[in-house]
Amino acid sequence: MVSNPSTKALPSLASATQHFFKEASAHLKLDPGITKILEQPQREVVVQVPLVKEDGSLEVFSGYRVQHSNARGPFKGGIRFHPSVDLDEVRGLAALMTWKCAAVNIPYGGAKGGIAVDPKTLTKRELKTLTQSFISMIMPALGPLKDIPAPDVNTSAETMGWIVAKACELAGDDVRGIVTGKPIELGGSLGRREATGKGVAVTTLRLLKWLGKDPAKMRAVVQGFGNNGSYTALYLAQAGCKIQAVSDISGGLYKESGLDIHALLEYVQTSDDHLLAGYPDATPMSNEELLKADVDVLIPAALENQITVANAEQIKAPIIIEAANAPVTPEADAILRKRGTIVVPDILANAGGVVVSYFEWVQNQQGYYWDLDTVNTRLTITMHRAFDDIYLLANEQHIPLRTAAYAIAVQRVARALEQKGVLVC
Ligand code: GLU
Repeated sequence: MVSNPSTKALPSLASATQHFFKEASAHLKLDPGITKILEQPQREVVVQVPLVKEDGSLEVFSGYRVQHSNARGPFKGGIRFHPSVDLDEVRGLAALMTWKCAAVNIPYGGAKGGIAVDPKTLTKRELKTLTQSFISMIMPALGPLKDIPAPDVNTSAETMGWIVAKACELAGDDVRGIVTGKPIELGGSLGRREATGKGVAVTTLRLLKWLGKDPAKMRAVVQGFGNNGSYTALYLAQAGCKIQAVSDISGGLYKESGLDIHALLEYVQTSDDHLLAGYPDATPMSNEELLKADVDVLIPAALENQITVANAEQIKAPIIIEAANAPVTPEADAILRKRGTIVVPDILANAGGVVVSYFEWVQNQQGYYWDLDTVNTRLTITMHRAFDDIYLLANEQHIPLRTAAYAIAVQRVARALEQKGVLVC
């Protein structure tokens, strides 16, 4: 994880995202003025959020909302709660959202938010108060047609429900479209909870189809067993892939003949700590061993900076699907390119979440709600279309999938800026 650069050797997430943007900008021979605009976020909001804890002590938490670009539509992106959240990380993730929404062609810009907090150290009541105080402080920057947050690392539908309540109270109006990923009862969409993992699985299967590979003959490992990783593993297992290992912060589990993902899901849902540790029907495996496993498909679905210069040479999987945001550093990406590893980039692979966020927002605007089949069919169509465009461009121009995805995304955002007249002098 990227945090304070003075204490951590890992690269800055903002500069990593900038690196891929600049590569695409050079590839497209983008106007230098447009490049300059898109290199930096449009707006950054930094707040210090006080919280009186249940024991009477006071703590102050840093909160961030970075709005990278709204050239193609309202700012859009999740809010995460994690101790290593800082301005650099949120900047990088906000830019990724701009490229992600453009890569899959949904009418949004990009933003990201977060609070530097370990939610496990707070009670539920403290967490709700902290969330609502944070929203009060950044509320002027938010709105259903302005900037629409959603869940991300350590936030959920429940968190979004608290935000809906606070935002409606502050606005004196029903502004539930101000967030997506809400509980169904508050105007959430069917299929949103599973959407990121479903999108990762749909993308993986599309790639296998293009490569002429049978999913039933594929061995895969998934790093991370949260909302994203668990649904990814489930849908790929349903498609016949053998999921040989999964992991979470308590470590990994391995089974050569393939793990029973349904049983694992039930295990984590019913265990006290909701972790994989202690599951009986598998062999323990470290997170690092999982990344280096001799399998066909490696799916990092946890946090950023997992595949770095330190381990890139040892990655054996010929295919990496970036279910997490920024799991591969630019330096590691260069090594993987040389070795011929196919990397499906985050801005494509994990876009299913924000695609169904878009569907939720449309349903809120319409006040008309879709059935699950409609959501899933439209998600699949959107992901296939985006994947095919990117895959074909990569093949035609002999460039990596990441470069192709950024090229398509950056071109769309640049065109929107041009059509707004930013270059007219
Ligand atoms: N946090 C998710 C992401 O990184 C979803 C964002 C959204 O739905 O706005 O893509």
